[in-house]
Amino acid sequence: MADDADVIVVGGGLAGLVAACEVADAGKRVIVVDQEGEQSLGGQAFWSFGGLFLVDSPEQRRLGIKDSFDLALQDWMGSAGFDREEDLWPRRWAEAYVAFAAGEKRGWLRAMGHRIFPVVGWAERGGYDAMSHGNSVPRFHVTWGTGPGIVEPFERRAREAQKSGRLTFKFRHRVDALTMTGGAVDGVTGAVLAPDPVERGQSSSRTVTGDFTLRAQAVIVASGGIGGNHDLVRKNWPARLGEAPKNMISGVPEHVDGRMIGITEAAGARLINRDRMWHYVEGIRNWSPIWPRHGIRILPGPSSMWLDALGHRLPSPLFPGSDTLGQLHYIMSTGYDYSWFVLTQSIIKKEFALSGSEQNPDLTGKSWLMTARRATNKGAPAPVEAFKRKGADFIVRDNLDDLVGAMNALAGDNLLKLAHLRAQIEARDREIANAYVKDAQVMNIHNARRYIGDRLIRTARPHRILDPAHGPLIAVKLNILTRKTLGGFETDLDSRVFGGDGNIMRGLYAAGEAAGFGGGGMHGYRSLEGTFLGGCLFSGRNAGRAAAKAVG
Ligand SMILES: Cc1cc2nc3c(=O)[nH]c(=O)nc-3n(C[C@H](O)[C@H](O)[C@H](O)COP(=O)(O)OP(=O)(O)OC[C@H]3O[C@@H](n4cnc5c(N)ncnc54)[C@H](O)[C@@H]3O)c2cc1C
Repeated sequence: MADDADVIVVGGGLAGLVAACEVADAGKRVIVVDQEGEQSLGGQAFWSFGGLFLVDSPEQRRLGIKDSFDLALQDWMGSAGFDREEDLWPRRWAEAYVAFAAGEKRGWLRAMGHRIFPVVGWAERGGYDAMSHGNSVPRFHVTWGTGPGIVEPFERRAREAQKSGRLTFKFRHRVDALTMTGGAVDGVTGAVLAPDPVERGQSSSRTVTGDFTLRAQAVIVASGGIGGNHDLVRKNWPARLGEAPKNMISGVPEHVDGRMIGITEAAGARLINRDRMWHYVEGIRNWSPIWPRHGIRILPGPSSMWLDALGHRLPSPLFPGSDTLGQLHYIMSTGYDYSWFVLTQSIIKKEFALSGSEQNPDLTGKSWLMTARRATNKGAPAPVEAFKRKGADFIVRDNLDDLVGAMNALAGDNLLKLAHLRAQIEARDREIANAYVKDAQVMNIHNARRYIGDRLIRTARPHRILDPAHGPLIAVKLNILTRKTLGGFETDLDSRVFGGDGNIMRGLYAAGEAAGFGGGGMHGYRSLEGTFLGGCLFSGRNAGRAAAKAVG
């Protein structure tokens, strides 16, 4: 039977798009198969904040940040904590990826028209020692145009290839199996799904109208992770993080269903590190949901007070923005799967950012005028204000008594004691008068403000939480929000997939979240943030280039 293309890519998310562009630009014929409709092209990346991990960039240098490959690798390895035999390829991917982020990545994107917002963010700040988790310096470079701005260059290249006949999209085609001949993967079979005009990101129907078979010399699996499938998240939940949460909200659309991971594994591919995942603890229920259980992550600045369900302050260094999995571990150890931020109007207007393209119309719409308001500090961005007014997890009150009463009413379990909260907040407030103090969070705030980017748009001037001049008081109930899958298919640096017997499976490649962003988990246990989109770019590029070369 004649091949339908040289290469088939399963998944039209960022990793699949990048891989397909590379195949087509190498002069080969490629088919991109996606279970969703054309309106969802770009997958999760479209919804993303567009944050990219870059090392020693001109943007960093302009802000006085001294970064280097060595410092970034030290941070990466301290965060990853590779400690398993199967970490051989993930570790190689990590080294190659940090070199990419310190080298070619920015220029390669720039040549395609990609641009970066000039203030570099500081995510995952750690707070332990120099060899432990966290970014020693700010490295989170937000794409000008956020998620759509990172998808755009690749969609443009793909559409050009489509026009020239080298690339074909097959939307509403759901892959149900890989086909093999003589031990080599040579195609896919699946179901054709009924057209569905739902909006991008909404759940689409699974009504089957037919079936299909496609043949090629190579198949690249770029089908994303498992974050939309809470059963699978719970099944893979690692004991080291405590019990799996009973209540979770979804940071990803429902198509991030993990189904193709099971299908690829059933064909013989080796899935490693399935217990490593990256979920957030600052999730808020979206008052205007797009997908089921839709939650948004708050990207917090350093000043909010963080209390567990019983009203105890989280221990140092678990301050907002320091150590996502450390916080998750602590919260699950309390026996409750939620926690609280307590803050002021002055903090929310400067420090709350919401992750997601639709929550940042200024950056997504590339409006300098709107974006400048972040620095002029006239009020919180409109989407944050909207959450404050309409979000089910937000409470706004003029005094602490009322605030705590409303927090207890919202949680419904009366766990919070006013006197206990007041004592902790007043103690923290007494530390504000001096610039050199013993409260580690307050020290952290002073440190953050020594970085001009934080002082400009991310860290409020230190003030007393109970100072009415900075009010009203705000409490936010924080939920656990599923997002990223850190494990995946074990691949070599050409994104070729290993089989269960330890040998490369001929004809099979994996990229993006399905490959643990490279190697089967290049992050190890933890991420430095902005590393997921970048992992899709790098592994998609490697997969596309290698597959194009292999098909001859
Ligand atoms: C709100 C949000 C904010 C984010 N912010 C950032 C950020 O700032 N920085 C960062 O680095 N990362 C961020 N991320 C993470 C990042 O966007 C994702 O990890 C990345 O886009 C995953 O891309 P992917 O191509 O691997 O998978 P996906 O985008 O999930 O694409 C996979 C595609 O495969 C298709 N598919 C799956 N199974 C099948 C099948 N059986 N048959 C056919 N098609 C199938 C799906 O329909 C989907 O279109 C964010 C994510 C979200 C949701």
